[in-house]
Amino acid sequence: MHTETTPVTIIGAGLGGLVLARVLHVHGIPATVYESDASPEARTQGGQLDIHEGDGQRALADAGLTEEFRAIIHEGAEALRMLDPDGAVLLDDPADDTAGRPEVLRGDLRRILLDSLPDGVVRWGRKVSGVRSLGEGRHEVSFTDGSTVTSTLLVGADGAWSKVRPLVSDAVPAYIGTTFIETYLYDADERHSATAEAVGRGAMYALTPGKGIVAHREAGGVLHTYVQLNRSAEWIGSVDFTDTAAATARIAAEFDGWAPHLTALVTDGETAPVARMIHTLPDAHHWDRVPGVTLIGDAAHLMPPSGDGANLAMFDGSELGKAIAAHPGDTEAALAAYEAEMFPRSASFYADAHEILDLCLGKRAPYGLIDFLGSAAPAGE
Ligand SMILES: Cc1cc2nc3c(=O)[nH]c(=O)nc-3n(C[C@H](O)[C@H](O)[C@H](O)COP(=O)(O)OP(=O)(O)OC[C@H]3O[C@@H](n4cnc5c(N)ncnc54)[C@H](O)[C@@H]3O)c2cc1C
Repeated sequence: MHTETTPVTIIGAGLGGLVLARVLHVHGIPATVYESDASPEARTQGGQLDIHEGDGQRALADAGLTEEFRAIIHEGAEALRMLDPDGAVLLDDPADDTAGRPEVLRGDLRRILLDSLPDGVVRWGRKVSGVRSLGEGRHEVSFTDGSTVTSTLLVGADGAWSKVRPLVSDAVPAYIGTTFIETYLYDADERHSATAEAVGRGAMYALTPGKGIVAHREAGGVLHTYVQLNRSAEWIGSVDFTDTAAATARIAAEFDGWAPHLTALVTDGETAPVARMIHTLPDAHHWDRVPGVTLIGDAAHLMPPSGDGANLAMFDGSELGKAIAAHPGDTEAALAAYEAEMFPRSASFYADAHEILDLCLGKRAPYGLIDFLGSAAPAGE
């Protein structure tokens, strides 16, 4: 197999890697993105993301894609409702669309980024198997198909299980004891009307200490559910997710006694439940400067899901792209400038992410989150 040399080599065509490639393109700097998925359609891209003014939206502006972003906003999806296990409404925030956190589908966001890049920038079906230093800031990247590339500036945008990370850090993600289990209901307004009504126009949270059901309404009457459970890895491992009926019954049993129109999000699920065990890197993960390589997004700072990860990945991508453009011919100055800002930024988000997870599933659930959202706890609490 041949070896090619690429100037800016990005591993991973997630939101972080694509924003980086796009911002570099805007500045006239060529880059190549190597992605393990065989094609853009190889797998569905997950649920809805709220895109924040301070980071995600700024990144898209730097990418010159504000107009394209505005066109994919799911209007009304910012509405938020909190229910108790009986289905009683604890909080109902219809949210206007000026809250600065519009919702979009991850797949739509990825599409506008892909459409903004010249053909050939993303090389599909190229799964990295390993990386090694060649000295003086150069690296060799090996792929599972036996090919290699040599880079003078290597960026790991390859998510939680980054193959690039070992070049800079020994840290590995650890399970935090919380698992999200995804299910979907389709045509919900017609076929599951009580459930669709309970979820409302946006997001619905039914949370208690250690467990909860969270659902988002996506375009086209789709209800996308994340069951949240604080359970050991052994417990999750004991659920046979290859047996849809048995797995559904095990998960539903955790919500015995809850209102049927809420548990229907699990019991009537129209896709096999998918378990996402939540792993994180150590708080404030950082490393000493290593010539010729850096990380962005989850590869750099995998933290509990708090609605910030994708926003931060895109912001990292745009900040790194701008730093490379601002230091022509001086890779080390660019990477040092990027990391000097990224480390303290992600450290502060780690703290927020732990707090939000605790508000959702900790012993004050759901009232801690209701307070956090700025509303009074309901009468009787
Ligand atoms: C259940 C759940 C819900 C979440 N909800 C939200 C939310 O509402 N809002 C939010 O902002 N964030 C959310 N997040 C966090 C968010 O998904 C991540 O922070 C974000 O996707 C990180 O983007 P990234 O580009 O760094 O990595 P990724 O999105 O993981 O992209 C990495 C890319 O690299 C590719 N890749 C991986 N390994 C290799 C390899 N060896 N070779 C080549 N390519 C490779 C992958 O295929 C992928 O395309 C959630 C996370 C979870 C688990």
